[in-house]
Amino acid sequence: MKPAPFRYHAPKTVDEALAILAEVAPHDGRVLAGGQSLVPTMAFRLARPTHLVDINGIDALKRLEVEGDELCIGACVRHEAFHHPVVAGPLGTLLSTVVRHIAHYPIRTRGTFCGSIAHADPASEWCAVAAALGARMVAKSVRGTRIIFAHEFFAGLMTTALNEDELLSEVRLPLLPPKTRFGFYEFSRRAGDFAIAMAVTTYRLEDEKIVEPRIAVGGAEPNARRIAEAEQALGGHAPGRETFARAAAAAAAAIDPMEDAMTSADYRRDLVRTVTRRALEQS
Ligand SMILES: Cc1cc2nc3c(=O)[nH]c(=O)nc-3n(C[C@H](O)[C@H](O)[C@H](O)COP(=O)(O)OP(=O)(O)OC[C@H]3O[C@@H](n4cnc5c(N)ncnc54)[C@H](O)[C@@H]3O)c2cc1C
Repeated sequence: MKPAPFRYHAPKTVDEALAILAEVAPHDGRVLAGGQSLVPTMAFRLARPTHLVDINGIDALKRLEVEGDELCIGACVRHEAFHHPVVAGPLGTLLSTVVRHIAHYPIRTRGTFCGSIAHADPASEWCAVAAALGARMVAKSVRGTRIIFAHEFFAGLMTTALNEDELLSEVRLPLLPPKTRFGFYEFSRRAGDFAIAMAVTTYRLEDEKIVEPRIAVGGAEPNARRIAEAEQALGGHAPGRETFARAAAAAAAAIDPMEDAMTSADYRRDLVRTVTRRALEQS
């Protein structure tokens, strides 16, 4: 099947893109980034946008740089940019560890980091990373710029706090202190498939005890989120099998798992326990 007819716009600046979005968003005008989620749904006519605003020609959205204590990831930065650490220290290594779990190589050469965040698939690895680290999303429209924190941004199944005429111009991730330990683990039925459950964990040690624990779970609920109960089970304890098992059990107990024809809620809950424990064991 071919997509339904649409009008194509190719702005060269952010301001131009925002002006077009202001005009076409009320008539189901959409941003086109890597097209790796949008184009297949258009081909099946599950999505029928009447206008596409292609942002790929806007050089300002290709920025990938450290500003202050954050890594700024522009809307046109593709997944493949993270195959090698983009910044020294644990954040760069974390991102290069996670990226190889996203789809397959050809998709990673087109799909964008910000596209994944805007699309907000529950099983998106970048959404789990953004939730875990407390990313800040920069949303622009003709009305101005808003900063939205991850815990307010992800609002449910493929639903975000972005307004229809807003462009997610960049995502900002906090740099992680040098001795931050991190882990990532996901389970999918076949390599390259969307994960059924995943966990991203970070913490530091002070006097051999865990401080600043962060545990985010993705794939199991409608949106990725930090699990406070699991973090409490880690904080103040020495790292090790028992502590990790306790935190994993707390994560499994705290979630409200999604269910589908292939995966029962009980199975997903069990997977959350496993992926959380394994992510922590990597750290
Ligand atoms: C076979 C296959 C397997 C995949 N497996 C995985 C996987 O394992 N993990 C994973 O995370 N992803 C997976 N993906 C999805 C892929 O990562 C996409 O690249 C990503 O979800 C969307 O990014 P994109 O740049 O392609 O966005 P697009 O497809 O261009 O857009 C997606 C949606 O987000 C909106 N949007 C995009 N960018 C912006 C922006 N800057 N501001 C506002 N709105 C915006 C668009 O309007 C559209 O509604 C897979 C895709 C395929 C085809």
